[in-house]
Amino acid sequence: MADNTIRELENVVIVGSGPAGLTAAIYAARAGLEPLLIEGFPSGGQLMETTDVENFPGYPEGVLGPQLIEDLKNQATRFGTRFIFENVERFDLTGDPKILTITGDVAIRTRAVILATGATARYLGLDNEAKLKGQGVSACAVCDGFFFRDQDVAVIGGGDSALEDALFLTHHARTVTIVHRRDSLRASRIMQERALNHPKIRFEWASVVADLVGEPDKDGLEGITLKNLKTGALKTIAVTGMFVAIGHIPATNLFKDQVTLDEKGFIDTVGKTSSTNVPGVFAAGDVMDPLYKQAITAAGSGCKAALDTEKWLIEHQS
Ligand code: NAP
Repeated sequence: MADNTIRELENVVIVGSGPAGLTAAIYAARAGLEPLLIEGFPSGGQLMETTDVENFPGYPEGVLGPQLIEDLKNQATRFGTRFIFENVERFDLTGDPKILTITGDVAIRTRAVILATGATARYLGLDNEAKLKGQGVSACAVCDGFFFRDQDVAVIGGGDSALEDALFLTHHARTVTIVHRRDSLRASRIMQERALNHPKIRFEWASVVADLVGEPDKDGLEGITLKNLKTGALKTIAVTGMFVAIGHIPATNLFKDQVTLDEKGFIDTVGKTSSTNVPGVFAAGDVMDPLYKQAITAAGSGCKAALDTEKWLIEHQS
């Protein structure tokens, strides 16, 4: 039976269950630190919303995102990681010990913390977008694409996520229009080639969404009004789905006043290490990585955070 007993004083608590947190758990557990991992909800991070992961080393045929998470979790469990399926509601990182309060006002005391809380989808910020969320507007093609069988949908963004979402949506939708604010894509060459050559995908270049058409709690999204940034012209295209894929916001809200963040809001780590400005607090994965944002780099930074934690705990034996 899984052991989720909370100790009186933990060595290290890892917050987050994406590849960063789970890799940190594997390393910390193998180092004998008996880590406690607070999964957060939803558990598993962004890979749970991905289909095929083709670039994680060790899977020559690719692997489904949720399967990769499951594999990492099994590996972390095998070495004695304890898992708690809760959210942290309050962080007190600056004291000694550090105290994390989870659902039900349960306080967990720990010597060290690894923050691997990841990032969440960024939206455009339009009024109607918020009102039509779940009624045509989504940031998760893999979760919601199925509901748009034989319909016309749009994807907003020009990065790998947008193209990956668009390609995924071609399995369900009749047409997929990619709306991108520039006239060249940011995505990797291989993804560009696939999207540009796909018969169901069309592009609206140098365009942004100016408004959404449709009534919440009635028929939902019916179209989006696009503004061409070169000509200023407005036009409305009929779509019943709009998938926003314009990047992510690091999940730092609950500790942003305690840990130093960079100008984009990601945790600022010290030099080449995973250390934050707070002694005994380390960071890994998308929450501290504005640049690479890959499953494998997240896993690598989880490894670094566990090694840094182990060293710090040895140097700060009480
Ligand atoms: P991203 O690379 O930062 O791309 C975000 C896209 O959204 C850009 O094209 C950007 O336009 C656009 N954008 C940003 N803010 C906007 C706004 N307010 N209005 C309209 N458009 C806006 O983010 P991502 O695609 O989520 O990818 C993140 C990282 O994950 C990248 O390193 C990517 O390579 C990686 N990734 C890899 C894969 C894969 O390998 N299969 C899949 C998904 C993601 P501009 O181009 O003009 O800045």
